[in-house]
Amino acid sequence: MRGSVSSTPTPPSSTTPAITFDRVTVTYGRGRSASEALSDFSLRVAPGETVALLGPSGSGKSTALKALAGFVRPSSGRVRLGDRDITDLPPARRGIGVVVQSYALFPHLRVRDNVAFGLRAHRVARSEIGDRVTDALSMVSMSAYADRLPRELSGGQQQRVAIARALAIRPGVLLLDEPLAALDAALRQSMLTELQQLRAALPDTAMLYVTHDQSEALALADRVAVMRDAHLVDLDTADALWARPPSTFTAAFLGGANLVPCTVGRVSGTSALVSVGDRMLSVTAPPRRVGAPDWAPGTSAMVCIRPHEITVAATSGHGSIRARVTATVWQGSTTRVTLAVDGLPDVLLDADLPGRTEHDIDSAVWVTIAPGTGVLVSTNGAP
Ligand code: ADP
Ligand code: MG
Repeated sequence: MRGSVSSTPTPPSSTTPAITFDRVTVTYGRGRSASEALSDFSLRVAPGETVALLGPSGSGKSTALKALAGFVRPSSGRVRLGDRDITDLPPARRGIGVVVQSYALFPHLRVRDNVAFGLRAHRVARSEIGDRVTDALSMVSMSAYADRLPRELSGGQQQRVAIARALAIRPGVLLLDEPLAALDAALRQSMLTELQQLRAALPDTAMLYVTHDQSEALALADRVAVMRDAHLVDLDTADALWARPPSTFTAAFLGGANLVPCTVGRVSGTSALVSVGDRMLSVTAPPRRVGAPDWAPGTSAMVCIRPHEITVAATSGHGSIRARVTATVWQGSTTRVTLAVDGLPDVLLDADLPGRTEHDIDSAVWVTIAPGTGVLVSTNGAP
């Protein structure tokens, strides 16, 4: 899986990348306690492009961002902004805007001085600082709060100030490390919308957005780089990773997939008949990556079925499969029903049904998976 990353598409621009990670490895500690937090990491981000680094906690996302910002030193590899190799530059001379989860505002400085701080560090002329601060605060709708102290602001407002401070230096590159993680769910949603607007207002700024939340990655990123155990495992557009996950890890991480073991049968173009337990199912067989073997009949693989692609009825219908309800959890706009399907021992399917659906535990139901909705995922080299 690791070697396959090189075959994914290059950024949607033939110009010099705004950001280049060239085989960057970061090791923390020394001797026996040394551990690689980032291994041989390569990534290019085009000017104006937003790439999300998505992965579970501890997978090396922040380490990658810190290597670019200059807060940690790679033990090997280089980082570049445009044509400029910045690997040996101190952070303040890299001209990168950085926003972190904890805001990191100075508590004793008013909003306007927090935003101006970075400008002074970047030696922006005094006469220009006032205008830059005004512009940056207006970009995040915080002009009215310029004279407040951070403690007089909500979490969301503090994060806006932190973003304004990063934008004030007019960086070509903006790094955001889980900027919404400290906010509550409702605020996170509205800040996500604001970040989308901000992105549209900064068409030339390359962004690297670190998150463990797949919905943020899908909402904001042109491409998503999936991280696992210090490695980049998959890199593609959010659409492609969602519709045709290259690995079971990405399928599961990007959206609560049902992964059902199957054996590939007849393949015709991008559709395949697979056997799942004692059933045949018609699924999508996405084109393989360069260098990967075809979907040959007899191959063991997984079918990825999203929970919203499964329908459940009380009576049998065409192509439906008998199942038993093992759990139901009402989630507001949907109900998640967990099902043990006849002929599929060891597999529980999650179905997301609209609204609040009542099904007794242990009741018998009939499950339908619409033809073509499942997609084949390779288990080759996958976890
Ligand atoms: P993520 O941002 O994906 O949660 P990090 O990049 O912060 O992951 O961490 C990757 C790995 O490096 C983790 O195992 C973490 O414990 C370790 N790590 C991070 N920072 C340090 C540090 N300063 N010293 C030692 N180990 C660290
Ligand atoms: Mg982190």
